[in-house]
Amino acid sequence: MRSFEELNLSPELARAIKDLGYESPSPIQVQALPILLAEPTDFIGLAATGTGKTAAFGIPLLEQIEPGKKQVQVLILCPTRELALQVTGQINLLGKYKNVNALSIYGGASYREQINGLRSGSQVVVGTPGRVIDHLERGILDISKVKTIILDEADEMISMGFKDDLETILQAATGESCQTWLFSATMNKDVRRVADNYLFQPKFVQVNRTEMLSTTVEQVFYRTRESDKPEILCKIIEAADNFYGLIFCQTKNLVMDLTQYLSNRGYRVDSLHGDKTQKDRERTVQAFRDRRVSILVCTDVASRGLDVKDITHVINYSLPRELEVYVHRIGRTARSGKTGTAISLVTPSHRDLVARIERHTKTRMEEGIVPTRKEIGIKKVAKMLTPFQAQKNYARAIELLTPEWKNVIAQMKAEEIVGRFLGVMSPEIFENQERGKPLQAHVAADSQARRNRRGKWKQDSRNRR
Ligand code: AMP
Repeated sequence: MRSFEELNLSPELARAIKDLGYESPSPIQVQALPILLAEPTDFIGLAATGTGKTAAFGIPLLEQIEPGKKQVQVLILCPTRELALQVTGQINLLGKYKNVNALSIYGGASYREQINGLRSGSQVVVGTPGRVIDHLERGILDISKVKTIILDEADEMISMGFKDDLETILQAATGESCQTWLFSATMNKDVRRVADNYLFQPKFVQVNRTEMLSTTVEQVFYRTRESDKPEILCKIIEAADNFYGLIFCQTKNLVMDLTQYLSNRGYRVDSLHGDKTQKDRERTVQAFRDRRVSILVCTDVASRGLDVKDITHVINYSLPRELEVYVHRIGRTARSGKTGTAISLVTPSHRDLVARIERHTKTRMEEGIVPTRKEIGIKKVAKMLTPFQAQKNYARAIELLTPEWKNVIAQMKAEEIVGRFLGVMSPEIFENQERGKPLQAHVAADSQARRNRRGKWKQDSRNRR
């Protein structure tokens, strides 16, 4: 199956898919849709958020709904309110021509609205397990006629302590031939146990991480010389909307030098490398999670197991030689349904790696054009407009102006006053000179280290001989 047309979907769904702009099915959809659209069956799909899994179960569930019947026909369980809302939104978009209503029910929100929603006959309920149980116990939610239960992010729900709630709900779904579809990013023993106990001969599909990345991570490369990397890196960071990212380097010396360089240029940056103690690393990761630090420069080994949400960028300051390492690095962005950008700084000697990565990840890497200082300046100044407009204390500030001030500004146009203020407050935007020393120290040190290594290797091989 390569296209949505091959699935013979109802015209209502085909139209909604077109409206959403989905041109071709994502890898999980390619595998899951033909199964879930065919016979009723229990099902396990191993796929993370961001792979298109919502449509993978949303399309078939919408096809089986009887819109005329105003009763709960499908129950989708999600670990968080955010995911529940996201899934509800997608089901409603996909089901808009089918006249199907999805309703979210989650903790922390008013019961009244949810009760009204349930009474109005929503056919699809998307809820967090705790609140679903509340409504079941109050007799407001009836899932006895439910035909399909979907466990979305089953591993997350279990790790958040919802295992018993899940079991209670699965036991309450007593409908004849009720099918259960379980989606999970990972298959650990707890997920396996739930599947073994509640799913009957489930069909199974899985998409691997490389396939997932191709749909969620935008991959861009910049051609550069080694000595231009620091400057290009800064431009990329400054041109991004709200950079929150990881920068990978091959050696810990480079990590340390680059961190120092970025810190000198005023970025909130920290590093993870092998010379740091465990405690130090934990402190750094916490600072990054709390966004006190927005850039983390790291080696592959030191960042192993790092799982931080909402990372916008992963930068390969040095490209790894192993493709799996590349995939592992860029998989740190685009988590939890978000998209992300992976940027690689590519020197002429690494050009061949781009084609290899493209083949491996089955995606094209776009070549990026380094933004000019002017473009970055326009962007930065544009960002100041909202806080400028929201400024409430300006009347009190005016009271502080001395006659000299008033005299000086009386001669100026508004643009000149704004321009001068921007220059005083953010001089770096308008500087012609590049700030900070170039990374010459590390470049020199790095090539010295290479020479030393080469010398040592020769020495070693002489010794071996
Ligand atoms: P999900 O994994 O369900 O959270 O989906 C991640 C994002 O991919 C959502 O924004 C979907 O709208 C989008 N999406 C799902 N299927 C497709 C598709 N076949 N083509 C393009 N985008 C898609």
